Amino acid sequence: MKLTVVGCSPAWPNPGGAQSGYLVEGPGRVLLDCGPGVLARLRAGEVWPSIDAIVVTHWHLDHWGDLVPWVWGAMVGPGRRTEQPELWLPPGGTERLADFGTRLGWEDMFASVFSLREYADARPFAAGGLEVTALELPHYLLQTFGVRVSDGDRTLAYSGDTGPSDRLVELARDVDLFLCEATLERAEYDGAPRGHLSADEAVEAFRAAGARRLLLTHRPQELSLGAGLEQVHDGLEVDV
Ligand SMILES: [Zn+2]
Repeated sequence: MKLTVVGCSPAWPNPGGAQSGYLVEGPGRVLLDCGPGVLARLRAGEVWPSIDAIVVTHWHLDHWGDLVPWVWGAMVGPGRRTEQPELWLPPGGTERLADFGTRLGWEDMFASVFSLREYADARPFAAGGLEVTALELPHYLLQTFGVRVSDGDRTLAYSGDTGPSDRLVELARDVDLFLCEATLERAEYDGAPRGHLSADEAVEAFRAAGARRLLLTHRPQELSLGAGLEQVHDGLEVDV
């Protein structure tokens, strides 16, 4: 299983960067989140991305914004000739997208392009030949999930956006690769409930989970990082 970091910027983009998008390739190709800048990056390698499934972790724009231009390109652009992916959404996501659609185009704009599915907390589903499990995590007051992805041999966990929690440790339990956000400079109260992690908090969850490798992401370029910690960058390719 291979992970490609398509974009890793936090809520505001790092210079020249794309926002959240992580391509997992095994039997098929699954894109975790699809933030602004991700579609352009994917198009640098192929006329239109050939993806089996997209999984959206939550509804902050930096994690789904490029679904909007994806619709236009799939309807009237070069995506017309490509089979469009399954789009796996948090519970209630179909209704949420219909609401966005009425404001951004028309009600079923997303449903007309993507094959919409909703996942449920802690219930594994198959996407692109991989097994995916979403676990609900704390992220201010917005419903948010992290995901585990497995090809039956190797497993990776992606935190999405999250504050510290036991569930985050559960998400990363014994995985080969833990891709974890580290948005904050220090462990601090950033809202009620908490919404993000410091690098130290990511390391704490990684150790408690017994995971094998930690890659930090979703980190503003302005922040430094302690020695010995690995941070991803756009374009990074990793064997899980
Ligand atoms: Zn984010």
